[in-house]
Amino acid sequence: MAADLDMNEIHWLMDMFNTVDVGLVVLDRDYKVCVWNGFMENHSGLLPSAVKHKDLFDLFPAIDEKWFRSKSESVFVLKNRSFTIWEQQPYIFRFKNYRPITGKAEYMYQNATFIPLTNIRAEVSHICIILYDVTDIAVNKKELEDLNKKLEQMSQVDNLTQLTNRGHWEDLLKQEYLRTKRNEGCSALLMFDIDHFKKVNDKYGHSGGDEALRHIAKLLRSALRETDIAGRYGGEEFVVTLLDTDKEGSVVFAERLRQLIESSPALHKNLEIRMTVSIGLACFNHEFKDHERWIEAADKALYSSKEGGRNRVTSFDDIKNDL
Ligand code: GH3
Ligand code: MG
Ligand code: MG
Repeated sequence: MAADLDMNEIHWLMDMFNTVDVGLVVLDRDYKVCVWNGFMENHSGLLPSAVKHKDLFDLFPAIDEKWFRSKSESVFVLKNRSFTIWEQQPYIFRFKNYRPITGKAEYMYQNATFIPLTNIRAEVSHICIILYDVTDIAVNKKELEDLNKKLEQMSQVDNLTQLTNRGHWEDLLKQEYLRTKRNEGCSALLMFDIDHFKKVNDKYGHSGGDEALRHIAKLLRSALRETDIAGRYGGEEFVVTLLDTDKEGSVVFAERLRQLIESSPALHKNLEIRMTVSIGLACFNHEFKDHERWIEAADKALYSSKEGGRNRVTSFDDIKNDL
């Protein structure tokens, strides 16, 4: 009776061993496979008889042997458990992912535990690897990260023009202010406002106005260097931080931009929308006690361009003595 029970228990254990939804592998000291359960068979397509006594690295050349050995050696030698997670190494065994909901992953993401198996002399003669399919968790986490990245990007970009929005642009300017101050560098701030934009809305409607704003943003982007940071500051007001640019360089850029906008009308319903802009420039100056003072200076120069008749460039340096 007792023997029957023992035999039953062994049967049950074998059934459980082969149906449990984790991979179980036993390796000897030479990395030869000794035990291979149903999970491993199903995912690798290899029967236990096909892998038994075979070298693991011959069977699975995709395994990073150096990494795997160093991971296992510490288990053999120190008799400690060891863990691997998908964030460090997406998988140990390259198994195809067949899960329908997480079909986006090509391979099964895996976590694994390496445990030492001792013989009767308390020596670690073998190790057992328990392999967990964590594809669902990994894919969810990656999707969440992608979504967060998208949300972050959306919170930094102006919807209409796809330029950096005011909040983010100001954050970047603040960094540039500190950098320029530290390095004794020169960078310039350019601010411009479309002249008589109300008339554009009045004449072409709000959608025409929107199209005109998108057009200005496109022209601005085409004129920028890689390092310049352009933003939409408000309704029809734009800003550009020109990195490592002196007064002369920034005046050249501003003048070129002014002429480009003047000579490149927007098209809306086959009608040309002609626009001009008034530009204010402020080169970095140690007298600006924070980045907001820098913006104020560019704004004052812009106001001066408006006062002076619009469609022109004014540099803060040239007016500050009049203030
Ligand atoms: P000025 O030469 O003095 O700058 O004249 P202006 O008419 O451009 O001046 P103002 O700043 O008074 O008018 C700006 C107009 O821009 C008012 C507002 O309705 C319009 N505006 C602001 N944001 C948008 C937008 O996103 N889309 C459209 N279509 N119009 C906008
Ligand atoms: Mg305006
Ligand atoms: Mg305005």
